Amino acid sequence: MSFRKIRCHLPGLLGAVASIVLLFGCSSTPSAPDAALRSFSADRLLGHIRTLSSDEFEGRGPGSKGEQLTIKYIEDQYRSAGLEPGNPDGSYLQSVPLVSITPDKSMKLTLAGHGRTLEPKFQDDYVAWSKRVTDSSSIDADMIFVGYGVQAPEFQWDDFKGVDVKGKVIVVLINDPPVADPSDPTKLDSKTFSGTAMTYYGRWTYKFEKAAQMGAAGCVIIHQADRAGYPWEVVRNSWSGTQFDLATPDKNMGRLAVESWITSDFATQLFHLAGQDLDKLTLAAARRDFKPVPLGIHEKLTIRNSLQTIDSHNVIAKITGSDLELKNTYVIYTAHWDHFGIGPEVNGDKIYHGAVDNASGTAALLEIARAYKQLRRPPPRTILFLSVTSEEQGLLGSQYYAEHPFYPLARTAANINMDGMNVHGMTRDIVQIGRGASTLDETVEAVAKEQGRVVKTDPEPEKGFYYRSDHFEFAKRGVPAFDPDQGVDFIGKPEGWGLEVRRKYTAENYHKPSDTIKPDWDLSGGIQDCQLFFLVGYRIANDSRIPEWKPGAEFKAIRDASLGSAGSAP
Ligand SMILES: [Zn+2]
Repeated sequence: MSFRKIRCHLPGLLGAVASIVLLFGCSSTPSAPDAALRSFSADRLLGHIRTLSSDEFEGRGPGSKGEQLTIKYIEDQYRSAGLEPGNPDGSYLQSVPLVSITPDKSMKLTLAGHGRTLEPKFQDDYVAWSKRVTDSSSIDADMIFVGYGVQAPEFQWDDFKGVDVKGKVIVVLINDPPVADPSDPTKLDSKTFSGTAMTYYGRWTYKFEKAAQMGAAGCVIIHQADRAGYPWEVVRNSWSGTQFDLATPDKNMGRLAVESWITSDFATQLFHLAGQDLDKLTLAAARRDFKPVPLGIHEKLTIRNSLQTIDSHNVIAKITGSDLELKNTYVIYTAHWDHFGIGPEVNGDKIYHGAVDNASGTAALLEIARAYKQLRRPPPRTILFLSVTSEEQGLLGSQYYAEHPFYPLARTAANINMDGMNVHGMTRDIVQIGRGASTLDETVEAVAKEQGRVVKTDPEPEKGFYYRSDHFEFAKRGVPAFDPDQGVDFIGKPEGWGLEVRRKYTAENYHKPSDTIKPDWDLSGGIQDCQLFFLVGYRIANDSRIPEWKPGAEFKAIRDASLGSAGSAP
């Protein structure tokens, strides 16, 4: 691959940096990154993934023996590559206080009404849990269907219509309301809930947050694989065992008493019992004039929890910038190290190896950190490498860092996050989730172009990926965040192959024990992406300007406010 042009840092200039385009290989310039780019190794990448996804690492569950091995491995790698400790106390670790909540699986859910009682099976028909940090949490309440459970004033949308749901269990559909385009009903209206792209209103986190805000006691989400973006096994495996949360002073008492999902098959039975037709109500819920429908069904459930506090860890390393002033500004690379540990057995395996998710991103982070150390002179801005815990439990490690940053977020120029690397060979494209929101677009595009690649928008915007990994904790606090995803146009493969490979991974391996290294892996594409991520960060670290949100971006106001209050922001 040829990187023909590169920006070089010209020192001096009153501590500012001039970025100019020079020919690649400008050996007189100390920070030319050719050696760094050449140093990326597919073998090393695979070696890291092999270790991190091994049986010995037990699926990297937070607080487990797997965590101890994982954080030690990452720290050793940072140290041997010559990176400085990222914690100002001189260590590579940030303690992340978590609480683990394990529900008693013998819980018994009853749904009674219209002269009958349903007793669905835990894990097969439903999953339920409480994030309240208490020994037991109960529900004894009437159920009401509230469509998508959305209140979005900017779209004049309100599924609640003033109906009081206090103390009730609301039943909702996943994703955004699929609103038909008034001029062409075969299409979705791009002006309402962004057409096919999932907005934050479509995410399960929003549904539970909204329900709690409305005073509901519980919320039941109806799972539909195509609308959620993942099959039932993902829901079951993610939420039927031990869950973690940040240990907060209010013990999560502001959360719902019970949060839950049911399968679409069971939902059909439930609505049948209520004398309702779920398909018809689903269509009605896609309209602005939808009104909540009481189901005449009473839910009873008690969840008994065993609680444990856990000290989990983020691992952080840094390379101090070479410019006197700009070294107090930061580019932060992130990748989560955790996965699900040991969980429900599938096809004879209980270890959730998470080779792609996210041993691969952790490996990429280590490779990129090592590559930065190959520079003869560090870039002007400081580079941070943050391996976060508990992404799989709701972005907890990145949330904790963003709430307790070692380096101010107002002086953090950008975040680059890696969650699942390409393991299938080189591509002519790279996908940028959330493209169009910030000036990072132009940097990513310039680097991709030099690699002979094009940048594409998310091919599956309906899955809401921008809200599903650690960069979101930075973005929602105003830090422009690059959320890359692997390309889909593979060199030497027929059209559609990339999307098929992705579909297959989601259906067969995603969040299952079978997310392991496969014999047909080809990490040349992963290296191509590592080089791109390296160069994007390198350019930002060399540029006197920081990336900005574009007008209309949802996080722009937050950034403007934080830069304003930071005073001397660059
Ligand atoms: Zn995951």
